[in-house]
Amino acid sequence: GSYIEENSASPVKLPTIKFTRLFINGEFVDSVSGKTFETIDPRTGEVIARVAEGDKEDVDLAVKAARKAFDDGPWPRMSGAERGRIMMKYADIIDEHIEELAALDAIDAGKLFSWGKAVDIPTVARLIRYYAGAADKIHGEVLKMSRELHGYTLREPIGVAGHIIPWNFPSSMFFMMSAPALAAGCTMIVKPAEQTPLSALFYGHLAKQAGMPDGVINVITGYGPTAGAAIASHMDIDKVCFTGSTEVGRKIMQAAATSNLKQVSLELGGKSPLLIFDDADVDKAADLALLGILYNKGEICVASSRVFVQEGIYDEFVKILKEKAKDWVVGDPFDPRSRLGPQVDKQQFDKILSYIEHGKREGASLLTGGKPVGKKGYFIEPTVFTDVKEEMMIATDEIFGPVMSLMKFKTIDEAIKKANNTKYGLAAGIVTKNLDVANTVSRSIRAGTIWINCYFAFDQDCSYGGYKMSGFGRHLGIEALHKFLQVKSVVTPIYNSPW
Ligand code: ADP
Repeated sequence: GSYIEENSASPVKLPTIKFTRLFINGEFVDSVSGKTFETIDPRTGEVIARVAEGDKEDVDLAVKAARKAFDDGPWPRMSGAERGRIMMKYADIIDEHIEELAALDAIDAGKLFSWGKAVDIPTVARLIRYYAGAADKIHGEVLKMSRELHGYTLREPIGVAGHIIPWNFPSSMFFMMSAPALAAGCTMIVKPAEQTPLSALFYGHLAKQAGMPDGVINVITGYGPTAGAAIASHMDIDKVCFTGSTEVGRKIMQAAATSNLKQVSLELGGKSPLLIFDDADVDKAADLALLGILYNKGEICVASSRVFVQEGIYDEFVKILKEKAKDWVVGDPFDPRSRLGPQVDKQQFDKILSYIEHGKREGASLLTGGKPVGKKGYFIEPTVFTDVKEEMMIATDEIFGPVMSLMKFKTIDEAIKKANNTKYGLAAGIVTKNLDVANTVSRSIRAGTIWINCYFAFDQDCSYGGYKMSGFGRHLGIEALHKFLQVKSVVTPIYNSPW
């Protein structure tokens, strides 16, 4: 990839930052401590704004509001249709602010403005509408029981949910996690990542505009070990939903276990394989492989960070891949020519570069990239390693950056074995025209999503989530709605029964 030094092409006016305080019970308020923290623009390393630093006391206030909105408020009591109507309005209002929201995520997370406009923010509205449409289709079953009993089940909202959001998809993750909870009738505390608090606060404001009752959505900005931990260990939160690293996922589960045994769902790390077979269209396979690791600068949990190519096409694949990698231009996320923006922060930038150094030390070869670019900000070249061995750290660890490990295989069995040789199990890709190969491999890989001849083919109706140490519970689809519902059984004797 090349790097665009000067961003001369940006016609976009940077957004003014309107909301920097906590959103609790329908109001923007300062944190109890009065403390604030800086949110940084990864394009430059400069401060965008200071944002309220929420901590335990603020989480307590937000939980009180959410508890009241759940225990006494209208949200879980109104009909599903009515909740759906408010959610539809919310989606419409978000649609009216696509540019502003995409710009906020671009300066806060370094995400491409054009993709934010075309993908992330429209996805938000689509997700909300999908779950709004499900809100009035939540029902239980009638049970034909023995012993002269009549029974039925109710699906009831689980209560107050805590959502701990990662920084890589600040908008779509906010709603992948909260939209099904809203449809279920839950109220919630949302904690965006400290790197990317800006759009989340805007979503609080827009919820109010849409007529969402106070206390249904509360947004607490702040750090993980303080505000995040307060959510995970809170005695009055019924469910914690976390998306992020496997290490933090473990802490969340521990905190849930030692507090009130709140339900937990975790969507964690990955080291997803992409398997490319001899019969594949090499050109298309190379495009998929690059997309799979470079989309969102590799900051995506389902990234295809391990690419396995069958030996018959390996050399040709490598040649084409190297050529095509040049098209992945690094630059300002507002520049329409850019396909990779900066990594989210200095910590991630340093971590990725140290993995690259480690890969070189371990004896892998750099096919392309490997260096930071630009005079300021956290930009890294698209990087591809060949001569990678399965036990090297670059092949086992989630790097969460634009770094591909390319490996070779001979047989289908070997491909399956290598693909499964990971503690993770989030996704996998298969490129082949052979249906038998596609079917066999799909069933043999232990991962929550398999993409055949495509990658990142997400849809609101298609759930995804982890096998193994990639977590449990599903995002998207009706599966995600059921995460926020619990089943109550109601039993009554039939007239004249011995009861
Ligand atoms: P990364 O390591 O890639 O930055 P994390 O998993 O640390 O990702 O962060 C994801 C989310 O988890 C963020 O909102 C972060 O603030 C939060 N978080 C981090 N540490 C904790 C913790 N100990 N308890 C609860 N939440 C946390």
